[in-house]
Amino acid sequence: MEHPTAAVTGGFLLSGSRSHTDSTGGKKVGTALDRTAILFAPPRRRVGRVFLHCSASDVESLTGSRLLAEVRDWHRARGFSEVGYHFLVDKQGSVMAGRDLEKTPAAQKGHNAGTIAIMVHGLTEFRWPALNACRDLCRSINEACEGRITYHGHCEVSAKICPVFDYTALLGLDRFGRMPAAD
Ligand SMILES: [Zn+2]
Repeated sequence: MEHPTAAVTGGFLLSGSRSHTDSTGGKKVGTALDRTAILFAPPRRRVGRVFLHCSASDVESLTGSRLLAEVRDWHRARGFSEVGYHFLVDKQGSVMAGRDLEKTPAAQKGHNAGTIAIMVHGLTEFRWPALNACRDLCRSINEACEGRITYHGHCEVSAKICPVFDYTALLGLDRFGRMPAAD
């Protein structure tokens, strides 16, 4: 296994060295920051925390809108009116907008108020395009919210192992969950 950096391993398989030629709709990966910068504008509702999740699925064919549709189905089956997360990141690093950012997520039972919920597709395998897109999205949020936001894993408020990847290392979080300011 070769990784572009050893920053995020967490003991789990990462596949950043694979080729990503099977991208959806002919779009190339690697422009996540531009896309997420466009996607993200701070909501009017008060938010203080971002929670990170994984999909607990490695189904390869779930990309783009198919991933969004599948997760929406999972959440509807659990009684939610719509997808519980605000953003979903597929394995190729495409970021989909889920639940309206003005609405409270349904993602961290008992800890949804004042949060933004992000899901990265994966269970045992998290790819660099996805992890980089997640980090870029979090950076965009951090800049837009002027560093007032802290970043957390679902596992901090739940017994679930979620997300499986090492989000603390990925985002460079301090012990309070703060991201360093951009250079
Ligand atoms: Zn979760």
